[in-house]
Amino acid sequence: YAKERGRRCYKFYSDSLNARALERLQLEESLRTALVREEFELYYQPQVDLKSEQITSVEALIRWNHPTLGMVSPGEFIPIAEETGLIIEIGEWVMKTACAQAKSWIDEGFPPCRMSINLSSVQFKRSALTETIKDVIEETGLPPEYLELELTESAVMTDVEQNIQRLKQLKNMGIKIAIDDFGTGYSSLSYLKKFPIDTLKIDRSFVTDLAENKEDEAIVKAIMALADTMNLGVIAEGVESQSQLAILRQYECELIQGYLFSRPLNKDDIGMLLKTGLPKRKQQ
Ligand code: C2E
Ligand code: MG
Ligand code: MG
Ligand code: MG
Repeated sequence: YAKERGRRCYKFYSDSLNARALERLQLEESLRTALVREEFELYYQPQVDLKSEQITSVEALIRWNHPTLGMVSPGEFIPIAEETGLIIEIGEWVMKTACAQAKSWIDEGFPPCRMSINLSSVQFKRSALTETIKDVIEETGLPPEYLELELTESAVMTDVEQNIQRLKQLKNMGIKIAIDDFGTGYSSLSYLKKFPIDTLKIDRSFVTDLAENKEDEAIVKAIMALADTMNLGVIAEGVESQSQLAILRQYECELIQGYLFSRPLNKDDIGMLLKTGLPKRKQQ
């Protein structure tokens, strides 16, 4: 009986494993042709200055419109793109598209708005990175001060010495650097002070229950204090409610990103929002 059950368990396990492997293989296959088939699109989410309620920057967020599966979230396909190396080409497309978009807003006389781009650790580790970015800047004509790169803690916390050099090169070009998902990685604070970075981006996981959870509030407070001491900007991501906003305001968080102000929007919708500005909200 035990043997039989064991075999059945094994069969069940192996079937579901195969199904998953197949699904992943199919995704990988279609990911290889997604660029030439123009299935990617960039959405843009405002980053808002809390005092003035002006949009200071937008974060470019990739969307994949799969021919049969519909929208596939980046959380699902970015890891596959990283494992297969496809992230290099996809990442270059993101950079070109986002920088060209930002340049066209400047040309059309929109209020100044920085472009924030997520950089995978796979892209960051490549020695060709700075050359690629220089090329994109030259090609699109976007002034580098308009460009901000979002890197995760884990991307910068390995090969520390080499990364410091790389970050310095980018800084010298006039590009801003933000540490994404801050607080979820394993930043060594003694390293952090050596990194030439501009902004800490408080991870959404600390914001979600901010109004109910004293520990999350303590973490947010600690990150603010750290940023203040180290002279860094702070942005909170994933802000959805007035009660979260009230706490962030109390701790004088500079920038806010989240559904409360706006979801990520396609290029036409963000264009309209940038032109008109956010609707005036009642102060609470
Ligand atoms: P991220 O860089 O931390 O981006 C923030 C994510 O939080 C985005 O998810 C955004 O849509 C979502 N978000 C923003 N405000 C709220 C809110 O108020 N509530 C909730 N529930 N979510 C909010 P998205 O667009 O699904 O992207 C997920 C992740 O995929 C990103 O996390 C980033 O790590 C990665 N990603 C997206 N686009 C790119 C890209 O072009 N290149 C690379 N390398 N990674 C990307
Ligand atoms: Mg990001
Ligand atoms: Mg983030
Ligand atoms: Mg995040």
